[in-house]
Amino acid sequence: MALYVQKFGGTSVGSTARIESVADKIISYRNQGHDIVVVVSAMSGETNRLLGLAHDIDPQPSPRELDVILSTGEQVTIALLSIALQKRGCDARSFTGGQVRILTDEAHTRARIREIDDKKIRHELAQGRVVVVAGFQGTDEEGNITTLGRGGSDTSAVALAAALKADECQIYTDVKGVYTTDPRVVEDARLLRSITFEEMLELASLGAKVLQIRSVEFAGKYKVPLRVLSSFEEDPGTLISLEEETEMEAPIISGIAFTRDEAKITVSGVPDVPGIAYRVIGPVSDAGIEVDVIVQNVSADGTTDITFTVKRADAEQTRQIIGRIASDVKARDISLDTKIAKISLVGVGMRSHAGIASKMFKTLADESINIQIITTSEIKISVVIDEKYLELAVRSLHSAFGLGEAGKG
Ligand code: ASP
Ligand code: MG
Repeated sequence: MALYVQKFGGTSVGSTARIESVADKIISYRNQGHDIVVVVSAMSGETNRLLGLAHDIDPQPSPRELDVILSTGEQVTIALLSIALQKRGCDARSFTGGQVRILTDEAHTRARIREIDDKKIRHELAQGRVVVVAGFQGTDEEGNITTLGRGGSDTSAVALAAALKADECQIYTDVKGVYTTDPRVVEDARLLRSITFEEMLELASLGAKVLQIRSVEFAGKYKVPLRVLSSFEEDPGTLISLEEETEMEAPIISGIAFTRDEAKITVSGVPDVPGIAYRVIGPVSDAGIEVDVIVQNVSADGTTDITFTVKRADAEQTRQIIGRIASDVKARDISLDTKIAKISLVGVGMRSHAGIASKMFKTLADESINIQIITTSEIKISVVIDEKYLELAVRSLHSAFGLGEAGKG
């Protein structure tokens, strides 16, 4: 008998009919003798609807009140699911984050979990009940309702699994699992049966949207076996595990992530002196803007160019900040390009294999795609290219590295 934490996302509980089929699924596990703790999201679209209501009144509502309203989405689903389970003769009880005592810090709308009291849940499980917990929420020291940031139910599920030392945390969603790349872009994308935390973390932070990044970090830190699977199909999905596959089966590249949501800023002709990178990038990060890729050129004439990327949504604000410091840092020119895309190859096999980067560059060259920026880390290589060629680039790389069904060895 195992203990599973099963999380069902917004589309999986998007209607009462779907909630009833989730109940059937839970009962089938229950009938195998397992203990089940369920974490649910709000019904799909609900969190946005609630957000819209608040914004109708005030475009900048108080974060505390926003959390009070946003947390109601999940509260509806826990009750509906418990009703569906009870109707089927399954003893079940719903709990809000505060009732379990999921203790968070006070950072409204992006709170972090500090501690989970597992006593109540263990007590309920011991009575033979299925425990249904509202995802995405907790309460702070003072009892104020907090939420964990968009997509936060994944983190709730992983944190509960860690606190309860569950055998597996299963994230049920509307896709079959984690793919080699986005199947909407590459038809041939293949479902991965397993992937390491490290790789998943890179893929998640590089634009693969299956799991909230924080939940993957959390699972890696507390060594919670995590599985992503479909709530609509019978399929074991993708296991995210601590162990790398044995050397012989291991693919060198696990997946290709990409994002269109960045913009590139180049500050050219600044003096090549100590402190210059800090004087350019410092004011941007001080404004709370996340800087991603950064490159600085070697200088020939005592000046250098610094290029970096930020989220496209922050591009205009960044340009203004750089505009204000431009004369101060003696910049010759500032340019902004919002039509870029970043593509990243990810794989733990890169550690032990040479030639991945050159194969990537050759593949892009063969398609006449110009690379604007290159960055690498131990298990990833990223390039920034013109957004126009994104799909072509991803498809070519996917086939060059034999990632599709056809390339499966
Ligand atoms: N309902 C919240 C959201 O839409 C949390 C979640 O679904 O994970 O972001
Ligand atoms: Mg989600």
